[in-house]
Parts: sequence; C-alpha cells; structure tokens
Amino acid sequence: MKMRVLGCAGGIGGRERLTTCLMVDHDILLDAGTGVSSLSLDELLQIRHVFLTHSHLDHVAGLALLVDAAQIGKSGGITVHATQKVIDTLKKHLFNWVLWPDFAAIPNEQAPAMRWQAIEQDATLEVDGRLITPWPVNHTAGSSAYWVRTGSGGFLFTGDMGSTPALWERVAGEALLRQVIVDCSFVNAERALADMSLHFCPQTLVDDIRALPLHIEFLIYHLKPGQEDLIMRELAEEGSRPFRAIRCGDVFEY
Ligand SMILES: [Zn+2]
Ligand SMILES: [Zn+2]
Repeated sequence: MKMRVLGCAGGIGGRERLTTCLMVDHDILLDAGTGVSSLSLDELLQIRHVFLTHSHLDHVAGLALLVDAAQIGKSGGITVHATQKVIDTLKKHLFNWVLWPDFAAIPNEQAPAMRWQAIEQDATLEVDGRLITPWPVNHTAGSSAYWVRTGSGGFLFTGDMGSTPALWERVAGEALLRQVIVDCSFVNAERALADMSLHFCPQTLVDDIRALPLHIEFLIYHLKPGQEDLIMRELAEEGSRPFRAIRCGDVFEY
C-alpha cells in the first residue's frame, strides 16, 4: 500500500501549501481539500472512494470539484464515506443546488457521480485488501480519525483534532501501526485558540500522546501558514520524541 500526501497545510499560500488530502494507492482519498487540485485529470478519474474526517471547508473544497470531474469523465461514480452527521451537513450546506449541485442526483439517482455511504465508528471497511477503521475524535460533530492498513502495516490519520484520550488508548494496542499523522495547528502562544477550535499546539499534543510507545512515528500536519518552523521547533523543545512535518508530495509505503 502506498500513501501520497497531496495536501497537508493548515491554510493556503503558494504551491507548497495545499489543504488536507491524502491519496492511498490510486483510488482512495482521505479528505479532499485543495490538495485534490494537484491530480491530473486521469488521476482524478481513477478515484473511487473518498473518506472524510469532517465537513470543514479545507477538507472538502476539492470534493465538490472532484465529483464534477467524475461526472464529466463518466468514471462510474465516487463513494463518499463519512459519519451521518458529516453527510447531513454537506447535503444541507454544500451539495444543495445553491452552493453546488447535488451530484448524488447527477446525471440520475440510479448511476450518480457521487454516492454517500454512512460509516459507523469502530466498524472496519475493506476496500480491495486495504482495511479502514474510523474512530471518533474531538473536533467538530461527527469527526473521525482513520486507521488505514494492510497485513503488513499502516498509518493512523487523525484529521483535525483536540485532546482525545480514548483514541490513543485504542491506538496503543495496534501492532501494525507504524505512523500517526496528527494535527498540530498552532504555536504554544496560541494555546487558547487551539483549545477553543479543538486543535493541538505542541504542549497539548505532547501531553495527549505521552503514554504511546516511541516506535510509533508521529508525523505532523495542518501547521498554520507562516508558523510551520516555530511549531516544529516548539515540538522539538518538548523533547519527548522525534516529530517530523509531512509535505505535499511525500510518499509512504506500507
Ligand atoms: Zn477542522
Ligand atoms: Zn482543517
């Protein structure tokens, strides 16, 4: 299994800052922020599944345009997996014929460009040999992390999150877990804003994951533009374990 980072920034600004989108092999996306725009038309048309962590715009902006491309390319449709809460939000506020057409009814409801599929937390889905398990995290209502693996290993993508001790308790028992891609959006000086918006800053992240074994590598995403270096410096100064920021274009093999 291959995972390619298409977008991982906490905001836009230059080609190196595209918002959240991870591609698993050639056919699965985890979130669909502006990172979707780095795919060629051929690559866009190979996407069959999108798993959404939550409904915030920086994670779904590319979904609207992706399903339009799928419709034009007549690719056979994309299944969008998310909690019912997230699906309801996107139906009401985005795919509502006002902000954007309802692509679950285009060209018709029998063979649409996009199908909604509600996920149940803790229930594992298999997509051609890749196992994907959603777990709840503390961010907006209905937010999920995804534990993605094959028999030889995998990664946890937290999506945006604030403190969620129950997630780390579950993670600790997963022998195949090699890497965690985790939110750390703000510098320590903005801890109050991080807490209020349910994101991590270096202090709160390190506190939350203190009990996890050191062989699990933590990869940081969703750094706020312009503060990337300071956030990573503050994480290093915490001294608890090594941290590395992921970048657009990074590829990981599992
Ligand atoms: Zn968010
Ligand atoms: Zn976000």
